Amino acid sequence: MEHEEAPYNNTHRAFLQSFMARSTMTLEEAQRVLAAIFTARDETRPVLTADITEADVTSYISAINYELSPIDFEIRSTRTQTADRTWIWAIVNTTSDPLTQVATTRSADEIAFVKRVLDAMFETYNTPRAEIMAITSTQALQLHKAPRNNETQQADGTPAPARSTLSMTDAQKCLENLVEEGWFEKSRKGYLSLSPRALMELRGWLMEMYNEAPDEDDTEVEAAARMRVKMCEACREIVTVGQRCSNRACKCRLHDACVRQFFRAQGAADKKCPTCKQEWTEENFVGERAARPASRASGASAASRRSMMDEDSDGDSD
Ligand SMILES: [Zn+2]
Ligand SMILES: [Zn+2]
Repeated sequence: MEHEEAPYNNTHRAFLQSFMARSTMTLEEAQRVLAAIFTARDETRPVLTADITEADVTSYISAINYELSPIDFEIRSTRTQTADRTWIWAIVNTTSDPLTQVATTRSADEIAFVKRVLDAMFETYNTPRAEIMAITSTQALQLHKAPRNNETQQADGTPAPARSTLSMTDAQKCLENLVEEGWFEKSRKGYLSLSPRALMELRGWLMEMYNEAPDEDDTEVEAAARMRVKMCEACREIVTVGQRCSNRACKCRLHDACVRQFFRAQGAADKKCPTCKQEWTEENFVGERAARPASRASGASAASRRSMMDEDSDGDSD
């Protein structure tokens, strides 16, 4: 298609509208949308998806970003964590508390619920033993109740204010909306995790919220565990699905696709962690693969009973 930098016009507005309707777009989707917009403008000259180049898309996005910047929005790109590492674009808010952004249309009680779900993803289910960073719907629904307040009375003797509890039904609805709006993704096994778009928008907030500076008397393992949100050693983006170093004191994480690329580039037959040089086994995972199936793997009853009792004390090779 012709390449003059058109001033901001209705085609940009139409593109932005279709963007807002889907929350994220791949290059292919953006090409398809632009082709449809141009075709609608002049039906005697239909434009094919293949006619739209990546440069066309980025030029539209930069024109739109120019218009969006005064209202603190921006279309940014990121890659998915899945094997193909597809590039996607998403509209993000560039200011304000991102948790409120996730929850703009939600009540204070719902926002508090979302925060409890995020805490569970990044704290409860993200330990040195199991960096799951995801939560099953059942686990998430159990968080509908606010944790019990220790004080039933305030200092002046009046009853403590009601905690932000949601009904089970409202919690369920809230989770469904978060999936629908593209903040959460639901896996085939029923795990909820943050979508690429949410990771992009919440990146700074997540690190500030869940990463702590190490204590002086921390062991290396404890210090590593305080960095709950870790970056991929290869691409420097957050890893919530991928692989981790077999050394628990090591902070090195890699996406699956980045593992392949990284070791291919190194040409190393025996794979070693780029940070600590311990063997990279490709058997220590981040994400729902790190979740242990509810001890049904072992056949012998004694063994399975033992493994259930050991649930909290045994772990992977360390
Ligand atoms: Zn990576
Ligand atoms: Zn390592």
